[in-house]
Amino acid sequence: MTAAPDLSPGTLPLRPELVGIEPYGAPQLDVPVLLNVNENPYAPSDQVVADVAAAVADATRGLNRYPDRDFAALRADLAAYLEVESGVHREPEQMWAANGSNEIMLHVMQAFGGPGRTALSFAPTYSMYPEYARGTSTAWVTGRRAEDFTLDPDHARATIAAHAPSVVLLASPNNPTGTALPAGTVRAVLDTAAEVPGGCVVVVDEAYGEFRREGTPSALELLDDYPHLAVSRTMSKAFGLAGARVGYLSASRALVDALRVVRLPYHLSAVTQAVARAALRHAPELMAQVGSLRAERDALVTWLRDHGFTAADSDANFVLFGLFDDREAVWQGLLDRGVLVRVTGPEGWLRVSVGTPEETAAFKDALVEVAGR
Ligand code: PMP
Repeated sequence: MTAAPDLSPGTLPLRPELVGIEPYGAPQLDVPVLLNVNENPYAPSDQVVADVAAAVADATRGLNRYPDRDFAALRADLAAYLEVESGVHREPEQMWAANGSNEIMLHVMQAFGGPGRTALSFAPTYSMYPEYARGTSTAWVTGRRAEDFTLDPDHARATIAAHAPSVVLLASPNNPTGTALPAGTVRAVLDTAAEVPGGCVVVVDEAYGEFRREGTPSALELLDDYPHLAVSRTMSKAFGLAGARVGYLSASRALVDALRVVRLPYHLSAVTQAVARAALRHAPELMAQVGSLRAERDALVTWLRDHGFTAADSDANFVLFGLFDDREAVWQGLLDRGVLVRVTGPEGWLRVSVGTPEETAAFKDALVEVAGR
């Protein structure tokens, strides 16, 4: 009889870059007011629940078969949605979808990053980006955003020229700051990326795109001009479907075809496809809700400033606010009062997601108590 293998941590051939690394994720605490991960506070309506349930029942009848590997119907539905939301026409072949925009960006990195290549972004930004790079053995470089969290086009150009990345990730609106990029800045990045020897793909991550303020453009409008641009979106935020795990992307057909090479076969389950399509049928009512969240967000920024806090301008469904000498203490004080926010961003700042009016009121009351303003 052979001895049982020794599975203690030191004996497993863990990749060196993973040694001592904790799994990513905000604390999932059981608290009355959850304002820490930028979810949509509104659960699906009874109508959406009924429609999704019926669609899932229908899909279940075919679960002995693998799903449509190319999810043609969902791609057509997503293109139709973008046309209504942004007035930009996309063909189904220019659409891609995956299990959350996290997986979308992993596909991008699998196709265009890799050993010997570099991915680049501008900090402070979404903290998962370096994890996509690590997971695909891509070198990771960050430039910087200005004090007010905008991106200086000259700095962006110089950083890209210096590092010659094969992937640039730009979150707009940015997490955790809420800052949207003007079209001119995105164009500056795209034009510089076009000159990188060997090529460079630019992903504009519009996970919070639907929450942008009036007059803020979407990078979707630039897609026809730039074959190396990909615009990523998600159903997790505006659609209130974080639990369903549906992200998507629009890009040139050539870029999408590259993603088809790296995806696992049947990566999008028949159930996921059915849920997404059913929710998309309810886009108009869900978008009305986005309108009220935007108004709540603007009112929250005003309230914070009126009460002597600093609040970053936001085009997203959250607000970065501060500045606190001891932000951990403020975070704990809010938690003690049943309100969970997120410690993120540069030192001194906290991030709060826009909740229902009742949740926002609870947050304000708790903050006044904790900060004494
Ligand atoms: N991009 C940004 C900027 C985000 O903040 C998030 C979620 N917090 C994601 C992508 C990923 O979202 P999902 O995988 O749920 O689509």
